Amino acid sequence: MPLLIRNGRIITATDDYIADIYCEDQTITRIGKTVEAPPDADSRGMTTIDAAGKFVFPGFIDPHVHIHLPFMGTHAKDTYETASKAALIGGTTTLIEMICPARSDEPLAAFQLWKGKAEGKSACDFTFHMGVTRYDSAAESQLREIVKAGLSSFKIFLAYKGAFGVDDTELFHTLKLAKQLGVIVTAHCENAELVSELQKQLLSEGKTGPQWHESSRPESVEAEGVHHLMTFAEQFGTHIYIVHTSCKPAVQQALMARERGANVWIETLIQYLLLDKTDAERPDFEGSKFVMSPPLRDKRNQRYLWDGLNSGAISTIATDHAPFDFKGQKEMGRDDFTKIPNGIPSLEDRVNLFYTHGVKAGRINLHRFVYAASTQAAKLFGLFPRKGTIAVGSDADLVIYDPAYRGRISASSHHINIDYSAFEGWEIEGRPHAVTVRGQVQVKEGKFVGDATKGKFLTREPNHF
Ligand SMILES: [Zn+2]
Repeated sequence: MPLLIRNGRIITATDDYIADIYCEDQTITRIGKTVEAPPDADSRGMTTIDAAGKFVFPGFIDPHVHIHLPFMGTHAKDTYETASKAALIGGTTTLIEMICPARSDEPLAAFQLWKGKAEGKSACDFTFHMGVTRYDSAAESQLREIVKAGLSSFKIFLAYKGAFGVDDTELFHTLKLAKQLGVIVTAHCENAELVSELQKQLLSEGKTGPQWHESSRPESVEAEGVHHLMTFAEQFGTHIYIVHTSCKPAVQQALMARERGANVWIETLIQYLLLDKTDAERPDFEGSKFVMSPPLRDKRNQRYLWDGLNSGAISTIATDHAPFDFKGQKEMGRDDFTKIPNGIPSLEDRVNLFYTHGVKAGRINLHRFVYAASTQAAKLFGLFPRKGTIAVGSDADLVIYDPAYRGRISASSHHINIDYSAFEGWEIEGRPHAVTVRGQVQVKEGKFVGDATKGKFLTREPNHF
């Protein structure tokens, strides 16, 4: 059905102008000062949205999400039914989920399993990074199949050895294969052995609460992980995307590799920009709500991360959404912080928090906002210009954003399936007035109003040769 958006202030990574947008057959077909819809558009059920006084952004992309996630003896709480609607309500129209098989799982079976959890159940579009959690000849041939089937990015873990982590020999071969296939490798960089020894040491000293999580994975451990990974990647020239970079020393290691000529991009998370390690010190085990890895850091890093987003040194902002309830799940680590399931869910709130504390607070301009939360992820992961911009021919994924909205975040009103919010009571200054996926209005005024199965699996071609 046709869609006409009138008089919006269109913001992309590079442009800022007022115009009408007309969409048909899932794509943007015309953009102009005044667009006249075809005479039969009304009889075909055209939707018209008055966007005067509002921004029109390209649909936002969260490039790092977990939905189906068996982890630390439990499962993350969201399903595609809950997560995709929550994503859309928050302005995210495409999400990229991490496929995280156990070492003993076969990659192709894992790909089918994760895809099966999403297909026909998602309200927003989706694709995956393929976790490489074991490397041998059987895994290699299956990874080649998976790339042919439309995934063009891998995920590797230097942390979580024994669960998802690969050893250095496997790392070597994974990076070599990725370069050969033109696949970008996303990577969790922390030295697993060092983390494990520090955890044991802290526990033996009776330091068992969530406030010790950060001390078990200090900034230097993350920086070492980045340096370690880049040393391997530079042997082949493999393109690297460092996920959830939390602190200045880790960013600096990536930038030093970039200076040496490496192709490396950096992701940070909304949590690192706004929360800090004192949140994990909250009493009565409330600190467990703020446990993720890498951990929330000393606040002094935040300015550096904002500056990095501003200058483009840091490419993207994601969430690493991994929802575990406080009751029954986070509580598994009451006597031992190493047993607290890791994750600070924020899929639904990323865009509004980034807008409020970035754009409204004067830390970042509108173009950088769109670039970091949408355009750059689309480019890196083979979705541009289909996603990530507003142009004729692009998918009609649009966020009509109301900068006059004022509200508060709360677990009592959010749509993700979890019993707490790390941002409980935080004010937001702006939210999506309407959100479309390929021309269909999916969200209006904070409510899901669309087609719960509209979302499609997005196939992607390798673009990192
Ligand atoms: Zn993750």
